[in-house]
Amino acid sequence: MRRLALPLLACLLSAFSAAAQDGPWKRPEIKGRPLEGLRVGLDIGHHRNSPGAISARGKTELSFNAAAARTIARVLQGAGAEVVLVNADGRVSSLAERPAIAARAGADCFVSIHHDSVNDKYLRKWTHEGVVRTYSDEFRGYSVFTSAKNPEAEKSRALALSLGAALHRTGLRPTLHHAEPIKGENRPLLDERTGVYEFSDLVVLKTATMPAILLECGVIAHREEELLVQRPDYQELLGLALVEALAEVFPAREKSPRKGFFRGKG
Ligand SMILES: [Zn+2]
Repeated sequence: MRRLALPLLACLLSAFSAAAQDGPWKRPEIKGRPLEGLRVGLDIGHHRNSPGAISARGKTELSFNAAAARTIARVLQGAGAEVVLVNADGRVSSLAERPAIAARAGADCFVSIHHDSVNDKYLRKWTHEGVVRTYSDEFRGYSVFTSAKNPEAEKSRALALSLGAALHRTGLRPTLHHAEPIKGENRPLLDERTGVYEFSDLVVLKTATMPAILLECGVIAHREEELLVQRPDYQELLGLALVEALAEVFPAREKSPRKGFFRGKG
C-alpha cells in the first residue's frame, strides 16, 4: 500500500503546484492610489533587430515583453503611478540607453520586463502547426533580478525581494534554473523561496542611476507557460504584485514632487 501511496502523493502535489501557477490566484487588493507621485521607468526588454528568446510556438520575446509591459503599465497607472514606457517602439538597441531614457524622464525607479528561456541543453523539438520548433517543459515560473553594482543597490535589492514576496503570495512560484552551476547561469539566489537572484553585471541594472530590477515574467520555452503569460489576467497579476512592492519600498513621503520642480537639478 505504501508503495502505491507515494506516487499518488507526488502526483497530487504536482497537480497542486500546477494549479497554483495557473490559478486560482490570490490577487493583491490595492486600496486607493498608493503610487501617487511615483514615476516608474518601465522597460520593454530587447529590440527589433535582436528580439530575445523564441517561444515554444516561435514568437519573439520582444512581443511578449511589449504586451506584458503595456498591461503592467495600465495597472501601475491605476494605482496612481506615472509610467515612462521605455522602448515602446522596439527600436532602443543600447542597453545603457534604457535606464538613461528613464532617468531623463525623471523616473524614480526602473523595471525591465522580460520573458525567459532555458539553457540549450534542455531544448527539445516538436512540431507546431506544421513547423518544427524548440521547447522545454523542464522549468517554468517567474524570477526577479537585482544588481549589487547599481548605485542604489540596497533599495534595488529591497524592491526585488519585495516583488518576489508579493508574487509568491499570489500563489505563483519562481523558476530556480538560473542558479544551476553551469555557464550562462550560476546566479546566486538571494531568496530561493521567492525567486530573487543577484546578477551584478546585468547592464540595464548596473548602469541605472535609480533603483532598478528586472522581472522575468515566465518561461516562454515552456509550452503551457507560453500560453499562460499571454493571458491579460496573468499580466495584471504581475502588475498588482509590482504595485504592492513599489508601495512598500517607496512610501508616500519619499515620492518626488508631481510637477518635477526639483527635477533635472541633481
Ligand atoms: Zn530577455
